[in-house]
Amino acid sequence: MGSNDDPHDELSVSPPKTYAAGVPAVAHAIRYSLSQTSPRRTALTLLNINQTKGFDCPGCAWPEPKDRHKNEYCENGAKHINDEATTKRVTREFFATHPVAELDGKSDWWLNQQGRLTEPMVKRPGGTHYEPISWDDALGLVADELTVLDSPDEAMFYTSGRVSNEAAFLLQLFARAYGTNNLPDCSNMCHESSGSALGETLGVGKGSVSLDDIHGSDLVLVVGQNPGTNHPRMLSALEETKRNGGQVVAVNTLPEAGLIRFKNPQHARGVIGRGTDIADQFVKIRPGGDLALFQMLNLLLLEAEDAAPGTVLDHDFIRRDTAGFEALAEHARKTSWDDVLTATGLTREEIEQLHERVLASRSVIVCWAMGLTQQKHGVPTIREVVNFLLLRGNIGRPGAGVCPVRGHSNVQGDRTMGIWERMPQAFLDALGAEFGFTPPAKHGYDSVDGVRAMRDGRASVFVGVAGNFVRAMSDSDVTEEALRRCRLTVQVSTKLNRSHTVCGDTALILPTLGRSDRDVQATGEQFVTVEDSMSEVHTSRGRLEPASPHLLSEVAIISRLARRTLGDDGFPWEDFERDYSLVRDRISRVVPGFEDFNERVSRPGGFRLPNPVNSGVYPTPSGKAVFTCNEFAMVRAPEGHLVLQSLRSHDQWNTIPYAMNDRYRGIHDARRVVMVNPEDLAELGIADRELVDIVSVWGDGVERRAPAFRVVAFPASRGSAAAYYPETNVLVPLDSVADISNTPTSKGVVVRLEPVAGAAG
Ligand code: SF4
Repeated sequence: MGSNDDPHDELSVSPPKTYAAGVPAVAHAIRYSLSQTSPRRTALTLLNINQTKGFDCPGCAWPEPKDRHKNEYCENGAKHINDEATTKRVTREFFATHPVAELDGKSDWWLNQQGRLTEPMVKRPGGTHYEPISWDDALGLVADELTVLDSPDEAMFYTSGRVSNEAAFLLQLFARAYGTNNLPDCSNMCHESSGSALGETLGVGKGSVSLDDIHGSDLVLVVGQNPGTNHPRMLSALEETKRNGGQVVAVNTLPEAGLIRFKNPQHARGVIGRGTDIADQFVKIRPGGDLALFQMLNLLLLEAEDAAPGTVLDHDFIRRDTAGFEALAEHARKTSWDDVLTATGLTREEIEQLHERVLASRSVIVCWAMGLTQQKHGVPTIREVVNFLLLRGNIGRPGAGVCPVRGHSNVQGDRTMGIWERMPQAFLDALGAEFGFTPPAKHGYDSVDGVRAMRDGRASVFVGVAGNFVRAMSDSDVTEEALRRCRLTVQVSTKLNRSHTVCGDTALILPTLGRSDRDVQATGEQFVTVEDSMSEVHTSRGRLEPASPHLLSEVAIISRLARRTLGDDGFPWEDFERDYSLVRDRISRVVPGFEDFNERVSRPGGFRLPNPVNSGVYPTPSGKAVFTCNEFAMVRAPEGHLVLQSLRSHDQWNTIPYAMNDRYRGIHDARRVVMVNPEDLAELGIADRELVDIVSVWGDGVERRAPAFRVVAFPASRGSAAAYYPETNVLVPLDSVADISNTPTSKGVVVRLEPVAGAAG
């Protein structure tokens, strides 16, 4: 398939893989890299990725070990970085020959394959094409639009997790100095439920564990997560857990190759040997059954304590460090086996087997990702996970704790830097004191509320720094319509994506440096910093020649835009652009934990932000870790319906497919595929490979349809279906959100499959 052909769906299916990585992963990584760039650039990227003096992989937020390997990357990391380092270019001639309407008809794959953006472009009102514009005019245009709005709250400033700490800090400073807290981010769509639940129960919305904890844990539960594709180096950590005698349990709706066996390509045993078996138990759960599972595990712990008092629960810890135990115990005793078995689709024996593993483990970690957070009851589910850990004192000691695994490299750091529509008043006060202004107190829009505001005409300027908002958000049709209603849409991007073809009246593309690009400013070469999933803060230095001499860094773009909009009064924007260490100086005085930031981050490997729960300090109102009582909930699908979850293929990074394959699941040359258990297919009267429309069922009376998907019989849990996003985002109603966190419920969509009349099977 050439880069100017849109890919066709030509589905073929092979048996799902029973191991991840190994030699095939290396071969795929190298093949994709060489399809994008030269052998020399490929070598350069791979020598520098995740190295102390190199750049941070943009792929995910999994941390690097202290004794990092010289090849400290995975198949997907290699693909991500060489996708960015591509030598293909999108030029003004490209835009002159491709009208926006034509680009809008292209696939996500095709758009990405065109290469790196090279200069600022504008689509003017009524225009059919993007045309070149100078940086000065482009930033002036944005500043003019921002200045004439009736209220700063009519503008939104979106970020994705690629944005560095320095750029994120400046963006939120600019937005707040301009007068709004409208700072939606990709975290709203992923780990918002984790932040909500952990903030309420432990006082800190982040994970508590380190890599050493994972390595030394007796039991790691990996829940609603597919590390083999989404955080592949996590498998090295789980391999270490196993080698140290610990156990791993996978709780998931699908069997995933990485959780079955891992062939670590960094070691001879992974290359020529069998590799390491990962999951000691696979708990094949129904979508949304996790809350019920943890409620039952908690009841079983209480009953085990009743049977052998003083041997199961950590009473000293509960007395000293927690609040609400009695209420939780009373609530848990109402848990019914019938409800739990219905919600989970598991047998009693499977749950009791897991309980026995828990009882035999002194230290337990629970890791999770979108499988929990994107459920309607994602927040109560994670609160129940915390209950489970607190009962046996599994917080704040070695080998134990909470581990929400973040999917984008600096999504956690961006939040730390103030990218949140609801930052605590203490942060706003510190920011205001440092820069001599009063940040707005009124909460801003998150991603869902931002789409509502644009849809309803309450917001009319959208500025997106990195990411692909249109394809990341739920309810694609509504989101696209909302963006098209804007007076101005601005995308700060490295590569072409769908968010550039869904334009406001005026649309700007502002091309920026990628992670791997050398960043030279007036005071010399700069580095930026990021924070990974385990709160390690470290540097990232681009090493490659930038894709074009016309690119600006994100720090430069934000600083110049802020200066054009607000002037210099009290804000040394020019200095920030010239020298990023001056931004870090300011961060050190505003953000707790960043004291002596420049000095500490210059040490090899950087530093780890303290998590107070590891010192027995819980910044909750009571000063204790909080047990919570969570009402039983499950996703109920009427007869003839399934519960759909959207997920990534293995050849995909966030919203961007690199190829039409999902190698580990045995899906080839197609993405419009829906995976369903064969017994469910038999009951529904639908054949393997039949062509169906997926139709979501929601209370607003609107029929949402994703047409023309091939059914693939797959050993998924009963009653579930799985298909790739962003193709299925159209099925998730904007108003279908997780309670409390407002996260789109992409893992719990009730659907029916409608055979396409007259289609060949
Ligand atoms: S595990 Fe994540 S951060 Fe590490 S190389 Fe792979 S994609 Fe990149």
